[in-house]
Amino acid sequence: MTRPGPRLIPLEAREVPLGGLRAMSVQRVLPSRDLPTIGAWCFLDRFGPQRVTMRVEPHPHIGLQTVTWPLTGSIRHRDTLGVDTVLEVGQLNLMTAGAGVAHSEYSLGTDETLLDALQLWIALPEASRDGAPAFEHHADLPVAQVPALHGADASVTVVMGRFAGTRSPATTHTPLVGAQVTLAAGSVVDLPLESAWEYGIAHIAGEVAVATGDVPLPDRGLLYLGDGRTEVRISAHSDATVFLLGGEPFTENLLMWWNFVGRTHEEIVTARADWEAHAARFGEVPGHDGVRIPAPPLPGTRLTPRRRPAWG
Ligand code: MN
Repeated sequence: MTRPGPRLIPLEAREVPLGGLRAMSVQRVLPSRDLPTIGAWCFLDRFGPQRVTMRVEPHPHIGLQTVTWPLTGSIRHRDTLGVDTVLEVGQLNLMTAGAGVAHSEYSLGTDETLLDALQLWIALPEASRDGAPAFEHHADLPVAQVPALHGADASVTVVMGRFAGTRSPATTHTPLVGAQVTLAAGSVVDLPLESAWEYGIAHIAGEVAVATGDVPLPDRGLLYLGDGRTEVRISAHSDATVFLLGGEPFTENLLMWWNFVGRTHEEIVTARADWEAHAARFGEVPGHDGVRIPAPPLPGTRLTPRRRPAWG
């Protein structure tokens, strides 16, 4: 595998309709045409801020972990493990699909409510992708302080993995980090990084520039940093929030289709058929009276994996 080395590649968010009865759309940054993964992070959606009655009905996942991180509002999560929980700002829902799980995500009540959230997927490696499903809710995540070069120190909430010696209690299957970084206007910090990991910085709010060249972070997009860095400079031109994604480069070629992360066309076809057949592999999410999201039709061609760029 060729390593990317230090890079500064902007990835713009694109509007993606989620479909369903209530037309909703999200802004998707990963996977992008230019880059399928950052570490094992293979999917980054921003939902909102929008006023909405969210009704994401039961749907299946395989081969991944879903990371739900609300920025505004509350989300009710129900799944085939019997979990029924409400997620608030500052808390993490982590669902590990393994060989198969299904869940629903609703806003609270029946009226429209202001919602904004990140939803990310982490690809599971070969050793754990066929394991049992699991769910974790973390309401007490560790916060690291990064000393400022100018202005106020930055606060880093370690949502997943590890950052500068601070470790999230959430279960990970490959070396990675997902962390929310909060900066005050005028502050400049050097975020410590692991040189063997690749990273990206996703924009959440405010005006931020990255690296010594003062490269602007694309609004609601991401700046890919590559690997080979021991730190990266972040300058906040206003009060700002960003989300740091990183990890050991994920070298397995992923085949992503609908809500599934696999390796081969055949296993995706089987997972789709199992969902459509109400197979025990996925089960039913209680409380939905059989309502669920049907799988879309498969394309007429064979599904092929997304390959990482040949860095040169
Ligand atoms: Mn889902």
